[in-house]
Amino acid sequence: GASFHDALLDGLNPQQRVAVEYRGPALLIVAGAGSGKTSVLTRRIAGLIDSREAWPSQILAITFTNKAAAEMRERVGALLGQTAEGMWISTFHSACVRILRREAENFGFTKSFTIYDSHDSRTLIKRIIKDLQADTFGFTVSGVAGKISKLKNELADADSYARTANFNDPQEEIFVEIFRQYTRSLSAANAFDFDDLIGQTVYLFRAFPQVAETYRRRFRHILVDEYQDTNHAQYALIRELTLPVGENDDDSYALVHGFDGQRTAGLPGASLTVVGDSDQSIYAFRGADIRNIVEFERDFPGATTVLLEQNYRSTQNILTAANAVISNNFDRKDKKLWTDVGDGEKIIGFTGYSGHDEAQFVADEIATLHESGTPYKDVAVFYRTNAQTRALEEIFIRAAVPYRVLGGTRFYERAEIKDVLAYLIAVANPFDAMALRRILNTPKRGIGPATETALAVFAETNEVSYRDAMRRSSELGLGPKVTTAILDLAVLLDEATALIDPDRAEGPAPVSEVLALLLERSGYVVALRAGRDPQDEARAENVEELLAVTKEFAKNNPGGQLVDFLTEVSLVAAADELDDTSGTVSLMTLHTAKGLEYEAVFLTGVEEDLLPHRMSASEPGGPAEERRLFYVGITRARKRLYLSLAMTRAQYGETAVAMPSRYLQEIPADLIDWRQSPGMATSRGGTQPRALNANRPGGFSTRSSIRASDSLSFSESSLPPAPRTKAEWPNRITAQVRDNGDLELQPGDRIRHTDFGEGRVNAVTGEGTKRVAHVQFDAAGSKKLLIKIAPIEKI
Ligand code: ATP
Ligand code: MG
Repeated sequence: GASFHDALLDGLNPQQRVAVEYRGPALLIVAGAGSGKTSVLTRRIAGLIDSREAWPSQILAITFTNKAAAEMRERVGALLGQTAEGMWISTFHSACVRILRREAENFGFTKSFTIYDSHDSRTLIKRIIKDLQADTFGFTVSGVAGKISKLKNELADADSYARTANFNDPQEEIFVEIFRQYTRSLSAANAFDFDDLIGQTVYLFRAFPQVAETYRRRFRHILVDEYQDTNHAQYALIRELTLPVGENDDDSYALVHGFDGQRTAGLPGASLTVVGDSDQSIYAFRGADIRNIVEFERDFPGATTVLLEQNYRSTQNILTAANAVISNNFDRKDKKLWTDVGDGEKIIGFTGYSGHDEAQFVADEIATLHESGTPYKDVAVFYRTNAQTRALEEIFIRAAVPYRVLGGTRFYERAEIKDVLAYLIAVANPFDAMALRRILNTPKRGIGPATETALAVFAETNEVSYRDAMRRSSELGLGPKVTTAILDLAVLLDEATALIDPDRAEGPAPVSEVLALLLERSGYVVALRAGRDPQDEARAENVEELLAVTKEFAKNNPGGQLVDFLTEVSLVAAADELDDTSGTVSLMTLHTAKGLEYEAVFLTGVEEDLLPHRMSASEPGGPAEERRLFYVGITRARKRLYLSLAMTRAQYGETAVAMPSRYLQEIPADLIDWRQSPGMATSRGGTQPRALNANRPGGFSTRSSIRASDSLSFSESSLPPAPRTKAEWPNRITAQVRDNGDLELQPGDRIRHTDFGEGRVNAVTGEGTKRVAHVQFDAAGSKKLLIKIAPIEKI
């Protein structure tokens, strides 16, 4: 009604209104960070539904993360005052999985296909490289994985690539063969890798026009957030979905599938809305193509462009800093963010001695913010690399700062979790040889690699699934013990499969029941609990946690099947652990931070080699992309922004002297209030992290294996004060850190440390300025010390 319409436009600026009210074939909203792009998309959806111009089921909205999707769904619901069922608000990957689960049978896959994550893909590629002895030609797993992914993002497959390849070059020939075998193994395993989810959906639409028509009829309004980060395959998918619907189509397919879309013959293409900001394009390394946004008007004739300029998120000081930084990227349209909320506080800069010192500063500041009324949930800490979390987590645990690490694929990357998931996958998808081979001798059943290969060969020669080969293992002429072991496992898998049979009298069993059966009968958990490795207990706990996850899944998805669970697990991407961040500080990488906002933001590790990352510094376009990443980080902050760095940084297993990031110099000096290390007078670095397991916030995203002995120790008392102004860098940092020169140390030497007393050197690792002494102190336990700067002397 009219009142809803007014409410929908309430408080919007004129350009935002135009964007919400636009009706037509194609709309491009380009605008800087925090100008309301996502808000406008959300309101457009609510407006379309409320005015009855569209059924919820006719809407497809694409967000960058599942978390963003959940938020958008919630906001649309809040605007409408009811939840709108049937809307597809999801990531590209989730939307494609949904389509493929329905349609995969069209082209030789089953509904229960497996989704290979990048780790699975690499395992497969590793095996192929080994089989072909391609490593002798210089092929590496990550090189091949990267190239295949890049090609798939451009919608190339092994055959199309082969047509353009230069076969006089043996390298090319081998690569084509690797790519072919990889593709073949995937389809033999009834599996898609991550890039396939998009690429194969595009293929499906092109190869089966009537399938494509069904979805074109269904989705009449397509909206894409963060369009600057779409790659070619995603762009092609959008193109496919927005094509006009032909005149003479057979509707039977739509009828069979029960879609409630309009069924008039012949329809114009769906209305497309995309929003984006080329200054926030941070996925070029994954094939994201800014040209998609630049060329939108040419690609979608009749498109209207709306520019949003006013920022509603941040204070002017934060925006001025962001503008100053991004203006150093050439090759961009100059746009300046502005706000009318005033300058706000200055940015606070901090230089610590070490990552721990920096983390302590962050923890102290968070405590202060909390005391002055900022809830933990409004605070976020960003970093460039996951490795940086360790110091932060150690300190946060000690300081009892409740936190969560977002981007929790980590849990699912653990070996024990992969093992258990492999059991579930083996039940769901009998063709998935990789999953079956993983569990064949896990836990140990006396089945060796030769038997594992023999089964694979048997499966291939007899053209049966790997699981069939296991069932027929008595035909392989193996020893009786091994044969029984294989058969027992095959029986267990069959029993589990019977549990999920849709025709089962009492209906398919919930995932938790299937998992419980597998865990108990396989002896996996018992084997872990009996293990001697001190980590095994923690591993067993992780498995218990997975069991808890399946129970949670059953609660949230009544009727959810095993494949649904596996889908959900595979799609847990960065930023997707929404669970419960209500009372906690959020920790995440800068990439994960995209689209989010927090009252207070700590951007840590603003150092050369981290930001820009050392891998990108030498790549063309690398430093510009890293600058956009920095820009993304800065523009997440509403009121308070902290930029911090350390003088020494433990990274890649060693500790090195760190330099301030080049990007810091780009921020006008008067915007930053620099602070020095507050803890100069006290020794902190040597303290053992205590009670690491106490008070740990629940949830599996926190690391389980922080060990005190991992931490590199410095005695900060003997270091000079941290630099206060930019003028003091970088000479001061390098020049005034304690320098032991080329102090010679050998295993067996005894040393004295200012804080830890006397101890014995057990080993020396690293080279040059990065040499590290592993010392067993008589009283203070074992420590690793950077020889160049540690306050030590030989005795
Ligand atoms: P990003 O580029 O970071 O994704 P964005 O352009 O999508 O940002 P939003 O997240 O939609 O921006 O909006 C930023 C903030 O501004 C949000 O808190 C939003 O609620 C608020 N906002 C947007 N438009 C208005 C407005 N007209 N009046 C008041 N607040 C607004
Ligand atoms: Mg946004």
